Amino acid sequence: MAEKRDYYEILGVAKTASADEIKKAYRKVAMQFHPDRNPGDKAAEEKFKEAAEAYEVLSDADKKAKYDRYGHQAFGPGMGGGGFHASNMEDIFSHFGDVFGDDMFGSFFGGGRRSSGATKARGQRGSNLRIKLKLNFTEIAHGVTKQVKVKKYIICNTCNGSGAKDKNSIQTCNTCGGNGQVRKVQNTFLGQMQTVTTCPTCNGEGTSVTAKCTACKGEGRVYGEETISIDIPAGVQSGMQLSMSGKGNAGERGGAFGDLIIQIEEEQHAELQRDGLNVAYDLYLSFTDAVFGTNAEVPTIDGKAKIKIPAGTQSGKIFRLKGKGFPEVQGYQRGDQLVNVNVWTPQNLSSEEKAMLEKLSNSHNFKPQPNKNDKSFFDKIREAFN
Ligand SMILES: [Zn+2]
Ligand SMILES: [Zn+2]
Repeated sequence: MAEKRDYYEILGVAKTASADEIKKAYRKVAMQFHPDRNPGDKAAEEKFKEAAEAYEVLSDADKKAKYDRYGHQAFGPGMGGGGFHASNMEDIFSHFGDVFGDDMFGSFFGGGRRSSGATKARGQRGSNLRIKLKLNFTEIAHGVTKQVKVKKYIICNTCNGSGAKDKNSIQTCNTCGGNGQVRKVQNTFLGQMQTVTTCPTCNGEGTSVTAKCTACKGEGRVYGEETISIDIPAGVQSGMQLSMSGKGNAGERGGAFGDLIIQIEEEQHAELQRDGLNVAYDLYLSFTDAVFGTNAEVPTIDGKAKIKIPAGTQSGKIFRLKGKGFPEVQGYQRGDQLVNVNVWTPQNLSSEEKAMLEKLSNSHNFKPQPNKNDKSFFDKIREAFN
């Protein structure tokens, strides 16, 4: 890094200069190296920043006193100087109000600079479009490509989006000559200043339409319908949003398309419940099936599955079907299906059935005798969901 120059030297003033003299000196140097007067000149830009830094310090009584005493060291090693942060141009311009007055700032620094980088804009961007998409468990588990008819603004076929009746009715804007920008020269007490702003006649488009397309009334777009192919990755959930760039509403007169935002909704399954990656199913067993054991058929995301229920299965037992749950959206994990056993207690009994059961009610084997292998409800829940 080059040796920092003395702030007084940068502004070309003596150490004894008054605040007013410093301000005047800065104004002079800033105008000389102003980027609008020296377009593309890096050296001038550096000088312009250097002057802003010097002025920042010398215009502040406190900082100036420190600088007079310690020089650049006053503000610590590595610091630009004086806690000076205006390393970018916008910051520097924000200081100009003080020096040149707010009127000047607004009229040629503010307005001019902000739009000078603007490029010729075609039309206006279309808005984003939001749709809801209902998916069933099978579609969610495997991912799916959906063809969805969407009502939205589409490009007008008649004029291809230009909004003009025909080729001859599109004309280069007279005001800006097709640039989309206009330059204004202002006389100020500092001399002539040039500013660049968006052309007011064509709003920066560079062309104007003399006769409008009748199909779209000059908008370049019409309300219509498009069938959009939407790829849904496996594992999505209710409330998730997917975004397809450029699939929203068409813009006016050839402007960019908005985005399509797809909000996922889960269709309820008649028998299965989703819990994150896992699927839960309540299996009801008759008392005798629980006692003797059976082969039970249970629904899964992908159709029926058979599970073996061993003899003596207790109500509340959870069987786990590994890998029969949902996949992670962006990952390698896959959930399980948890089959929760409920032993059905008969509610209506004939007198014959009642008599049979009464005989058994005092039987030793019918008395609950949980052993340590019969886990508590909470243990089972903890185990099942971990
Ligand atoms: Zn049209
Ligand atoms: Zn124009």
